Amino acid sequence: MDAGRANDTQRPSETPSASPGRRAFLLAALAGSVTVLTGCEPPASSSGSRRLPPAPDPDGGHVQLPERPPAVPPRLVVLERPLPPQAEPTIRVRVATLRPPTRRLRVEGDGPRVYIQDANGQPKAVATPATIEATLDGWLVIEAAGTPRAGTYEFASGALVMKPVPGSKGIRFQSDVTGSTSWPFEIRLTHRTDEAIGAIDIVGHVQMEAYLPGVLAKELYQNWSREAFLAQAVAARSYALCEMAQNATRHFDVVAGEASQAWVGATTHRTSLEAVQRTSGMVLTWDSRVVPAYYSSCCGGRPANAVDAIAPGPFNAIPPLTVSASSVRDCCRAAPTWRWRMSLPTGETAKRIAAWARTERPAMAKIDGVRSIDVAAVNAAGRPTSFRIVDAKNQTFEIPSERLRWAFNSDNPGLPVVRSRVRSGDFTAQVSAVSIALEGRGFGHGVGLCQYGAEGLAKDGATWREILRRFYPSADVVSTYGAKA
Ligand SMILES: [Zn+2]
Repeated sequence: MDAGRANDTQRPSETPSASPGRRAFLLAALAGSVTVLTGCEPPASSSGSRRLPPAPDPDGGHVQLPERPPAVPPRLVVLERPLPPQAEPTIRVRVATLRPPTRRLRVEGDGPRVYIQDANGQPKAVATPATIEATLDGWLVIEAAGTPRAGTYEFASGALVMKPVPGSKGIRFQSDVTGSTSWPFEIRLTHRTDEAIGAIDIVGHVQMEAYLPGVLAKELYQNWSREAFLAQAVAARSYALCEMAQNATRHFDVVAGEASQAWVGATTHRTSLEAVQRTSGMVLTWDSRVVPAYYSSCCGGRPANAVDAIAPGPFNAIPPLTVSASSVRDCCRAAPTWRWRMSLPTGETAKRIAAWARTERPAMAKIDGVRSIDVAAVNAAGRPTSFRIVDAKNQTFEIPSERLRWAFNSDNPGLPVVRSRVRSGDFTAQVSAVSIALEGRGFGHGVGLCQYGAEGLAKDGATWREILRRFYPSADVVSTYGAKA
């Protein structure tokens, strides 16, 4: 939670991978103890037959590549929120992306091996430690237990499924990007077709109830109140289900980080585990469908509407995510970010906004300098929803407040890396020739549950149900699969 919560449903679509062509696979089993490494899913043609692996290349080199998968389809646009699930779902969590120059990933099992799914969906043992390397021409090369070129996997054609030995502590991955981390879950390695060949997404496939404790352990301070954890568990579950609905055509539902929900993987943190267990299967609904229960670190006392701060549209335009004058509160007054001040260099910031606008908001790309920044509109709670910027040529631009925050925080080539990020879109700005002085409130987008506010209410004796009612007014808590209450 050190980073501001910032569920960003408008992030650009990334690599979906479920197209039929990608489900075909190619395998080359080469010399060595590891003999069969395969793609993981049947062809969508449902012909009942599988493409057989080609014969091993006697020279130990790569076999011929199949045709490339089709272009990446856009992120699925879902207008309707999902219904509460009937059974516990599996959520796909992107835990890391390896990009060149990092191409090598070392894999270790808890025991002497890990399992890779074979053509029949059966586990195939691979001795470890093994090294997986993404090559420039789109191959995934696995070297197992010192056996050079143990197997070659045509990476672009589907995900490589790796499973830990049943009952073990999981698979340990080591790379420049991941450090040394163990995940006791099924892991799929997927080639990114929207980036240079060689980029790998590492995606954990985790049962929802096993996923959530690792969210809570990272999102909240571990010594916070039990009721705050319980409320957060229901919100995080609801949010995750809505992300799954919106990302069905992509090869992951959420990322392990600020753009979705923070996640530590497996955790032993007792309060997190108990909060998930006690609320097992419980979700927030409104009008019988799941609420995308966004949350952020600190609302600063003036929460935001989801349609303003997350994304417009019917998915978010619902009463539990819409503020009123009575939404103003001070339960998060103890947060270190309740009020804040910072200063940005005027010239550099103007260039940053222009550079950001060139790709994200073309109508603003011609902005030239910054002369003033004023609040243009506020929501019913008094939080700014848009700002008006006047530039050095007296041109006027209006921009939603969260977008302006993204522009302030964007890293652009040719400009210094952003060291101190603007914490929220709720601020006033005094512009001089030298600096832009900001006075702001809160940390994060301000929609839905306020984490510091939840802890404040819990300390004042509120139950988790009361906390949820406060932050998602008119939403119901509904029991689905596995619910105990
Ligand atoms: Zn708050």
